[in-house]
Amino acid sequence: MLDELAVENLGLIATARLEPPTGFVVVTGETGAGKTLLLGALRLLRGDTAAKGQIGPVGDETRVEARLIDELRKLPGVGPKSAQRIAFYLLRRSREETNRLSEAVGTLLDDIRTCSSCQAITDREECAICSNPARSPKIVCVVEEPHDVLAIEKTRDFRGRYHVLHGALSPLQGVGPDELRIRGLLERLRAGETEEVILATSPTVEGEATAVYLARLLRPLEVRVTRIAMGVPVGSDLEWADEVTMAKALEGRRDY
Ligand code: ZN
Repeated sequence: MLDELAVENLGLIATARLEPPTGFVVVTGETGAGKTLLLGALRLLRGDTAAKGQIGPVGDETRVEARLIDELRKLPGVGPKSAQRIAFYLLRRSREETNRLSEAVGTLLDDIRTCSSCQAITDREECAICSNPARSPKIVCVVEEPHDVLAIEKTRDFRGRYHVLHGALSPLQGVGPDELRIRGLLERLRAGETEEVILATSPTVEGEATAVYLARLLRPLEVRVTRIAMGVPVGSDLEWADEVTMAKALEGRRDY
């Protein structure tokens, strides 16, 4: 496999180097003509004169692609292969299309903020749920992340409001109560409109720890504190449930 290759021809010096982990061949040289010569030689070696994407463009442009791939790889669910595929896809798009994408990403944080009341992501001072008079302020559902709101909204069953903590307690990762949006929750509860707080943090170690912490913290306030039920998933067979889930399901049983 090619690691490093240098050519010197007619005084035109250039080198080609395989850059892990992107798999790009970075071509550098003192002159553009030298780089073009080497690139042409590499394509001929591969028997591939047409595939521009297989060997990156000359010089700095290749660096730009490698940088883009590095940034894309940091996105959730995107591995090195997918990052490379997305980068090549973008290279084939028109300048207008890529401009639209980069503008949407660039202005993301300008337009987005957190709701002054529930801390969900919104583009207004108060989010659509908090400013909707049909949503009852008597029930507040506490969740870890903004996307958890969408998960509960999908049920179309909940008519109360939310409070987003923006994380869960995790001493190992240095996340303590001060790192979560708990103060805003207490202020809302002290305003006196809320009758019930539903703790809808995830059934993980961190989510459970957060729920236990909040339940203790809210005890002095005159508000009913409940925890979402946990148990066997709907539509699945009991034999597939692990023992912890089954124990939780038995523990959370109710009159029927
Ligand atoms: Zn809100």
